[in-house]
Amino acid sequence: MREAREAWLNVTEKLGGNPSSMHQVGTRAAIALAEAREQLAAVLGCHPLDLVWTSGATEANNTVMHHFARKLPPTATIFVSAIEHPCVDDSSRHYFGKRVKTIPVTRDGVVDLDWLTGELADARPGLVAVMAANNETGVIQPWREILAICQAYQVPFFTDAVQFIGKQPGKGLGDCDFLSGAAHKFGGPRGVGFLKIPHRSQLTPLLLGGKQEGGRRAGTENVATIAAMLAALAVREKQMARGEHLLRKVWRDNFEAQFLRALPGTIILGHNQPRLWNTVSALMPEGDRKSQWVIRLDKAGFAVSTGSACTTGKEEPSHVLSAMGFKAAHALRAVRFSAGWETTEADWDALLRAVVKVHGEMQPKA
Ligand code: PLP
Repeated sequence: MREAREAWLNVTEKLGGNPSSMHQVGTRAAIALAEAREQLAAVLGCHPLDLVWTSGATEANNTVMHHFARKLPPTATIFVSAIEHPCVDDSSRHYFGKRVKTIPVTRDGVVDLDWLTGELADARPGLVAVMAANNETGVIQPWREILAICQAYQVPFFTDAVQFIGKQPGKGLGDCDFLSGAAHKFGGPRGVGFLKIPHRSQLTPLLLGGKQEGGRRAGTENVATIAAMLAALAVREKQMARGEHLLRKVWRDNFEAQFLRALPGTIILGHNQPRLWNTVSALMPEGDRKSQWVIRLDKAGFAVSTGSACTTGKEEPSHVLSAMGFKAAHALRAVRFSAGWETTEADWDALLRAVVKVHGEMQPKA
């Protein structure tokens, strides 16, 4: 994105100092860093000092799990949703092993609130972790409700908001106790993100060896990429203030309606749930081979992905599809279409035409 590139260049050329240095060049970089912190805090609705810059969401999410592993008693359990990104899933299991209790999801890919409320009535986990929107299905999770439930039971709530931020307005997310985000999901550079933690609480850092970020994350901050991240987010928030995300949802909905009409037997995952406007995750009609979809659509100029993992030659549903109750036979049919802010209505139309054509080509010849 042009605005992000310009912000990066501006800081690189004019504010090259180390923000921890006392001299004027360093102080100017520190001021730019403080401004970025204030901008992000304003978007999320939190205190600027709640924010810690990281190398991305993987680091932020690992930091959360590491922190709670150090802070909680050795018998404490944590609740983690069944559809988390591997960097939450794997790190929670690394630190907590069998003390992770999985929060189930419905067939539509939404966290089961009844299960959560029922469990919290009896047990007090040290942490509840549910992402704000899922990266495979785009299904938006009821994070506001989960936050309210956690507050009622006085359990800290952590949400990985990587997919949500920059596609839905960020306001209110800052109320979550712990929160992570990554710039490359909204037009900023790769390798930069953030963690929100209550600034009054002590964080056990993952990275040691420096006093940066109030002693919560060692290592010189990359001021230029942080400024680029905030420039990108400002553009997205402006677009959303103009309702541009709602328009994109209409385009996506129109695509889906025509897609379902043209290809009977297609199942769109989480179809009736609130979903991010950029994701369409579908089980294609039975008999249409997923690998053929990927190859043929690629030839037509559309890069699509699949929702399965190949384990020893056998196609298995991804952990997200499995959690939603889909089996191996469904995995063969899973295809995911992802759009970006630059995707136009004409692009969705062109995709529809390509999908219909490829489907036709895959039908047995009479
Ligand atoms: N969480 C979610 C939901 C993601 O989709 C991703 C990356 O795609 C990550 C975490 C990891 O983020 P990063 O690449 O910034 O480490």
